[in-house]
Amino acid sequence: MCHVQPRCLSSSAAQNIATPRPQRVFSCTILVDFRTEDQDDMCNTLRVRWTITPQTAPQPWVACSGCGTQKPFQSSGKIRLNANGRKLDAWLIYKCLTCDKTWNRPIFERKAVTDIDPAVLEALQSNDADWIRAETFNIAALRRKSQRIEEFPGFDIGKELLSQARDWTVLDIELNVPFAISVRLDRLLAGELQVSRSRLQGLHDGGLLQTGPSAAGILRRRIGNGTRISIDLAAYADREQVWRSLAAGRLA
Ligand SMILES: [Zn+2]
Repeated sequence: MCHVQPRCLSSSAAQNIATPRPQRVFSCTILVDFRTEDQDDMCNTLRVRWTITPQTAPQPWVACSGCGTQKPFQSSGKIRLNANGRKLDAWLIYKCLTCDKTWNRPIFERKAVTDIDPAVLEALQSNDADWIRAETFNIAALRRKSQRIEEFPGFDIGKELLSQARDWTVLDIELNVPFAISVRLDRLLAGELQVSRSRLQGLHDGGLLQTGPSAAGILRRRIGNGTRISIDLAAYADREQVWRSLAAGRLA
């Protein structure tokens, strides 16, 4: 088991461990971003990171010339580029889910080549699959072109154990959400930690569940990248046997 030495972390020790120079301060290496960590919290915390990846990209509804009505469209994964002198157009090609008719979603139009980020230009010219996938989750851009965007709640989740104090009582979850997904925070926590949403709300009302940011109603809002959830489990004797494996994954 990985744990911090009884003497808690000092900020200088924390800085040292972030450098390549080996320091024999800890009993083992713990993977923590010390720059943002509250050192005083390290001694009683189990820290995990959840990476949540949606399974299906949002589908914009647009007028389909083949169907003669509004229909949901899906990305084909292909980019179309059109050069006009020193100006460039780029579109992501979508297809109607009913009739396969295409719709070109503008990435940009009539843009000077010199104004385009070289990395973006390279991604567009090579039909870079990762770049295109990220763009299919660009909700803000989709909303500019379509009044109705259909989103899907299905997701994959990866759980990492970041650090574990010997006698931890506080569970700290960091959400890594690289693509926009329509999942409420309380639904995510209830499903993954196997507790009811009303119990989560009770913990929140009692100050035992805190979030960062701590906006009003955050439990009912969609999850955001970088959100932190801290749950005080001091009163739960089953935290090591039950909560830990649910939070950190079975293999942790
Ligand atoms: Zn159609």
